Amino acid sequence: MQHFPRPQDRSLAVEREPIDGTCPECGGHDLAGYPVLSEGGWWDVVKCQGCLASVRRNPAPPLGSFTPLSELV
Ligand SMILES: [Zn+2]
Repeated sequence: MQHFPRPQDRSLAVEREPIDGTCPECGGHDLAGYPVLSEGGWWDVVKCQGCLASVRRNPAPPLGSFTPLSELV
């Protein structure tokens, strides 16, 4: 019996990068950074994967040259 497989990856579209840190909302350590397209263009965001609180949000270079957040830590 074939079932539709659950995706193993946490994201289908962009690569999420594990971030060291502590969520200010829930105290969790499961943070991930990834680019999102929102008002004002691309943003590098770090979100808690537990409660989805935004920990950090920085403007990203507009044309896709994504700087890994690890270089900023
Ligand atoms: Zn959290």
